[in-house]
Formats: sequence, C-alpha cells, structure tokens
Amino acid sequence: MSKNKKRILILPGDGIGPEVSVVAKKLLVLLDQKYSLDLEVSEGLLGGIAYDQTGDPLPKETLDKAKENEAILLGAVGGPKWDQISSEKRPEKGLLGMRSEFDFFANLRPAILSKELVSASTLKEEKVADLDLLIVRELTGGIYFGEPRGKVKGSEEVLNTMRYSKDEITRIGRVAFEAARKRSGKLCSVDKANVLEVSSFWRNTISDLSHEYPEVELSHMLVDNAAMQLVREPKQFDVIVTENLFGDILSDIAAMLTGSIGMLPSASLNDTNKGLYEPVHGSAPDIAGKDLANPLASILSVAMMMRYTFEEEKVALAIEQAVESVLALGQRTQDIAGKKDEVIGTIEMGQLVLKEIESN
Ligand code: NAD
Repeated sequence: MSKNKKRILILPGDGIGPEVSVVAKKLLVLLDQKYSLDLEVSEGLLGGIAYDQTGDPLPKETLDKAKENEAILLGAVGGPKWDQISSEKRPEKGLLGMRSEFDFFANLRPAILSKELVSASTLKEEKVADLDLLIVRELTGGIYFGEPRGKVKGSEEVLNTMRYSKDEITRIGRVAFEAARKRSGKLCSVDKANVLEVSSFWRNTISDLSHEYPEVELSHMLVDNAAMQLVREPKQFDVIVTENLFGDILSDIAAMLTGSIGMLPSASLNDTNKGLYEPVHGSAPDIAGKDLANPLASILSVAMMMRYTFEEEKVALAIEQAVESVLALGQRTQDIAGKKDEVIGTIEMGQLVLKEIESN
C-alpha cells in the first residue's frame, strides 16, 4: 500500500446502494485518470449484505479496511428482508457502528436546488428558487446513542436516553460557526429548549460559543417551528445546526424542498477530516434492481469527498458543474422528471455525467 495514495473504501450496501455505487466507482476511475489524483479504490461489506454473508452488519474485516482508508463511500443499507431480525444485527446498526467507531460527529447536509429543477419541488417557485442551505447535524451523540436504552428489566417499559456533553456540543458548534462564517454569516441553532433540559444546555453552550464568532449572527429556533419554517420560508435559513434526531428529520424536509431525496449528498467528518460520504436517501427497496434510482446524490457525495477529505476543490466543482450541465440538457431520472420529460435510468444518467466531465 502506497503512503501517498488517496484511499477510498466503497461500501455499496443494500437495495439501490450497489446500483448508485457502480456509477460512483466509474466516476472515481475517471477522475483518477483525468486529474492524476492517485486514488486507490477498494470495496467492502456493510449492512444487510454483510449480515447475510458474515452474520454481522459491520464485520471486523470492513472495520479494518475502513481504518486504512481516508474516505469511505457508502451506497445505502437496510430493507424489508432484515426488518424482523434483532435490533443488534440490523443493517442500520452497521452504519451507526461505523459512524461511532470513527467518531464521524459532523454531518454536513447541503440542500441546494438546482436551477434546472425548480419545477420538481413541491413548493412554489418563488419560495425555493436559488435555495442553498446547509444543515450541520450532530451525528454521534443524542438519543441514537444514549445509554441506558432498551427494555427495562421485569417491566413493560422501554427507554432511550438523550444526552449531550458540553464538549460534544462545542465541537459541532464550531463546525457550524466556521461554515456560517464562510457563507452568509447566519447560523440558526435548533433545539427544544422549552421542554428538554438537554436542549436548554445545548442552547446555552452554543450561545457561549458565539462570543468567539462575533461576525456570525446567531439565532435559536424550536424544532417544531423550524420544521414549519423550512416549508413556509426556507430561504430565511443559511446554516442550521442541530442535534442528531432533530437533524435527521429536518434534513429530510430540506431534501424534499430540492425536489428529490435522490439529489442530496452528505458528508460525515471527524477531527482529522477522514470522512464517510453517502447519499441522504436510503436503500429504496421499492425501486431497487430496476435501473430507476437517481445516482446524482451518490455522484455529488463524491464531490463532497473531493472537497472535504482530499481538498480537491477544482475536482469537486467539475463534478457539480457536470451534474448541472446534464440537468440543463433536460436529462431526468423518474424521481425528478416532469410530466412531459423523457425518463432515463441510473446507468444512463451516470454515463452522461461522466461524458460531461470527460469532455471538459
Ligand atoms: P428511502 O430513502 O430508501 O426511500 C424513500 C423514497 O424515496 C422511496 O419512494 C424511494 O423510491 C425514493 N428514493 C430514495 N432514493 C432514491 C433515488 N436515489 N432515486 C429515486 N428515488 C429515490 O427511505 P425509506 O423507504 O424510509 O427506507 C428504506 C430503507 O432504507 C429502510 O430499511 C431504511 O432503514 C433504510 N435507510 C438507510 C439509510 C442509509 O443507508 N443511510 C438512510 C435512510 C433509510
């Protein structure tokens, strides 16, 4: 293994994961040739497929491989096939385990509406045109990980625990303030401080941190209001920072503003900029294996990888511009197609983006 290589592990996973990952892999091969990036790409098992083959949704071999790579590209995990197995062995556990193993605490979810897709949004054009917001979601704490959890012995009771330490809030806060500083200078912190003690601690900690970022205008919003405001007037937001569960829900709302969840990439970073990159969507069992999945979220996840882990801004922009150009040509997968549009499949959409990059 060469030291200077940029090492990427692809974990295709389940459902449409393998279909969109094939496209992403071809893209990485092309980028390597065109920009002499010196990439080393390998593959591994995660999720339901890993459970089927090894009995574990996150096999040790995958973890070992992941340690050797600077970037991990995930397809998606999960599906009805594994819905009945114990919660410890479910595909999603593999993904949560990966996030916590490498401390990928900062989840960046941009929601950018392509000029070409204004009509694909369920909201009126004037509400969403030029939408460009970033949700910074805390990913390794909160109720998804808090202990104790599970069934209370000898009772008919089940519990989960929401907890956050000051350090956990401060480090995600810093990521958000830094992002806001580079963008419009506006940051909205979302919580449920009127009801939850954890949230009022979150609010106080973010407020204290704001003194280090006087150029950023900080506001706070309760999560129920934030959900409503995202649909009512989404362009009032630029950067939103929030805890794990609230971020999960709000980012899916933001996803729909852009027309389709099939368009949205995400990055999960740790302190060393090692990153887990994945589309926001899941394994979409309803369309898996039919060449119907939109591969653009996966393609744009590669762009985020180039930007954040490998600091190859030029390559990231080339990918994003290629996606815009293909959309401008009117090419649409079924999830973003209007009534009159001709629909293309996963493979063809991937080929068109690659061709665009090749010819520029
Ligand atoms: P989903 O995102 O898989 O699908 C929601 C809807 O969006 C479906 O109608 C689907 O067809 C559509 N869709 C999703 N991605 C698309 C794409 N690329 N192109 C076109 N249409 C697309 O969410 P779900 O149905 O709630 O979950 C299905 C499975 O995925 C579950 O097992 C869930 O646990 C899992 N899941 C995994 C992840 C992940 O791997 N990060 C995230 C969310 C859900």
